[in-house]
Amino acid sequence: MSTHTALYPGSFDPVHYGHIDIAQRAAKIFERLIVGVYDRPGKSLFFSTEVRLTLMRSVLQDLPNVEVCAYSGLTVAFAKSIQAQVLVRGLRVVSDFELEYQMALTNQQLYPELDTVCLMTRHEYAFLSSSLIKEIFMVGGDVGKMVPAIVQKALADRLSQLRS
Ligand code: ADP
Repeated sequence: MSTHTALYPGSFDPVHYGHIDIAQRAAKIFERLIVGVYDRPGKSLFFSTEVRLTLMRSVLQDLPNVEVCAYSGLTVAFAKSIQAQVLVRGLRVVSDFELEYQMALTNQQLYPELDTVCLMTRHEYAFLSSSLIKEIFMVGGDVGKMVPAIVQKALADRLSQLRS
């Protein structure tokens, strides 16, 4: 059995089935998985960090070896602080690879003990992204096959908050 702690970081704005699938598969591979919800004070996100944390905790609550934490600053610094040896990322399309490759090599320079492991998406989630989901939802489209009910409810609440 592996003794690794892995970090799966992201904005998760909001979490969708593609993210959940990666977290579930990573939780089977690594002994302990920390899902890091990136708190980006400088960037305008649709959901607050608190809401993104609550949604992620709720959708992953059945996985006993998974913890969900918020973090800010450098991802490698957070990885070091939780003694993670592995950084988990998901790959959808070739354009993801270019970015992930660049990030992995940069992180290698900053923290050589940390290895990046990329898991391939499932084909049914290959075109799923948080930004696409928000766009579809904003114009009244059905996102029921892309996000769990709790996320759909959060999208509706946030939209009515923005429109009031
Ligand atoms: P970012 O880390 O750029 O803020 P996200 O929060 O959307 O992006 O995603 C976090 C991680 O999940 C990234 O590694 C991303 O490639 C991966 N991911 C996003 N969507 C999918 C998907 N549909 N299938 C597999 N992995 C995905």
